[in-house]
Amino acid sequence: MDKIKVKDLEVFARHGAFPEENVLGQKFLVSVTMYMDTREAGMTDNLTKSIHYGEVSHFIKKFMEENVFKLIETVAEKLARELLIAFPLMEKLDLEIKKPWAPIGLPLEMVSVEISRGWHLAYLGMGSSLGDKKQYLDGAVRALQETEGCEVLKVADYLATEPYGGAAKEEFLNSCMVLRTLFTPRELLERLHEIEQEANRERLVHWGDRTLDLDILMYDDLVMDSAELTIPHVEMHLRSFVLDPLSQIAPYKKHPVLQKTVMQLRSELEND
Ligand code: ATP
Ligand code: CA
Ligand code: CA
Repeated sequence: MDKIKVKDLEVFARHGAFPEENVLGQKFLVSVTMYMDTREAGMTDNLTKSIHYGEVSHFIKKFMEENVFKLIETVAEKLARELLIAFPLMEKLDLEIKKPWAPIGLPLEMVSVEISRGWHLAYLGMGSSLGDKKQYLDGAVRALQETEGCEVLKVADYLATEPYGGAAKEEFLNSCMVLRTLFTPRELLERLHEIEQEANRERLVHWGDRTLDLDILMYDDLVMDSAELTIPHVEMHLRSFVLDPLSQIAPYKKHPVLQKTVMQLRSELEND
């Protein structure tokens, strides 16, 4: 991807773990490499199609001066997040915060923290089998849209499906979403659980009837398996109530383990 860089922007600020640092302040140097597609800006010579590095630099200076954190890790984490939200063309960034005058009583050239952060694509499945099902799905879409660091890109049509797995009695309403998010998979799962709780979901019977169920189907091309989270969702390729709506909004997304597109998985399931 193309890059726009700002190197060693000098800012005087008061971050630090020692109280005197918070009072006296010191010099910080901030470097950022921003990843975006500059093709359109380059072809049209139109600044609105690009990221204005002057605005970025002023944004950084203001952020550095108006906040006080103990750790430059925190400075980097929060600043990266704010930059990605404020400049939506930025897909990803590398951010380095240097402290050339770090007061540790020893001579050194520099201490610094460098992080890479960016937007991710999450593919979510959702379902409801109790109460006003459409309202529960609408509510989930709205809750994610209103979550800072999440942006709902696509929502599939809602699909009425038969109960699944034996424990559920009611007909389901299912759908899928594509989400642009700054959350890690674990943070996203936590947010989904909150939204389920707000929909009065009670975890009574596994696979039983519920007001709202939100699953992470895929997350970029990530493959992970931990006690609380398996991605891709282990059963997604076996469920037509997942593949039908998902093939509407992400037909060519490839399952990173099975190496088949959503559309291929769907037609294989139909032919079984
Ligand atoms: P299924 O996962 O078969 O669709 P379910 O959605 O009814 O069943 P839940 O009771 O909602 O199951 O979830 C149980 C646990 O599954 C969650 O608390 C979560 O920790 C874990 N889990 C593992 N992988 C995922 C995933 N990809 N998305 C959501 N939850 C997951
Ligand atoms: Ca589920
Ligand atoms: Ca679930």
